[in-house]
Amino acid sequence: MVIEIEVRGVKVYYKSVRALDGVSLSVRNGEVLSIIGPNGAGKSTLLRVINGVLKPHVGTVLIDKTSLHDLRPRDVARKVGYVPQRLRATGMLTVYDFVMTGRRPHVSFAPTKEDEEKVYEALKVVRLSDLADRALEELSGGELQRAVIARALAGEPEVVLLDEPTSNLDLKYQLEVLSLVRSLSNRGLIVIMALHDLTQAYRASDKILLLNSGKVVAVGDPDEVLRPDLISKVYGVPVIIIKEHKIIVPLF
Ligand code: ADP
Repeated sequence: MVIEIEVRGVKVYYKSVRALDGVSLSVRNGEVLSIIGPNGAGKSTLLRVINGVLKPHVGTVLIDKTSLHDLRPRDVARKVGYVPQRLRATGMLTVYDFVMTGRRPHVSFAPTKEDEEKVYEALKVVRLSDLADRALEELSGGELQRAVIARALAGEPEVVLLDEPTSNLDLKYQLEVLSLVRSLSNRGLIVIMALHDLTQAYRASDKILLLNSGKVVAVGDPDEVLRPDLISKVYGVPVIIIKEHKIIVPLF
């Protein structure tokens, strides 16, 4: 079944700042879309709009042709899983209990057998089953990131949003998380992530959206969006793009 998320003509203002200025995009299940652009381009704001926490001043977000902002927050939470850039303090929660918090949109009173199963399933997907009883604060950076992804998966979403999922990780964990992200889209999820690293975006995405000052500079196939002239102009740095290896190198 094809599921599609569509952002149509979205505008968001923070007082006098135009954070998003007529942004449109569409992504289907099985696809990974990366949002790139310099600091302040509007990447996090766009994720917050798609997450339903920020209502755009103009425009809509449609999932399966239903406007996200007409749904109750609980129903949005069932459709969209969010992986924040940084986790707030979590105390001594175990990995299992933490991932269970991702079931909230489905739990009425106490968690059921099915909720438990979904948590174990999510832990399996991110390969953390063995660490279910470990305290969250005892995890490595890469394991913690996987636990946060498991929490999003436990809600059985159709869309997973990730805000710079590789930003605080060393090289090996960055690759691990990107390969996990690919496995999510292979499972039929829609994946949308904000990324800083252009080479990672090149390699990990089916589609790329290049934002600058809240406007879409280009959107589509990575080879079409990642052109040296566009990237140099938007980031203000000359770059070389090595297509056969999907590498982008800034020149300094
Ligand atoms: P990015 O994630 O690409 O760095 P953001 O979406 O965080 O960009 O920010 C887009 C613009 O909106 C920036 O100019 C930023 O300063 C501004 N902005 C973001 N959040 C707020 C806020 N809560 N209040 C006022 N301005 C904000």
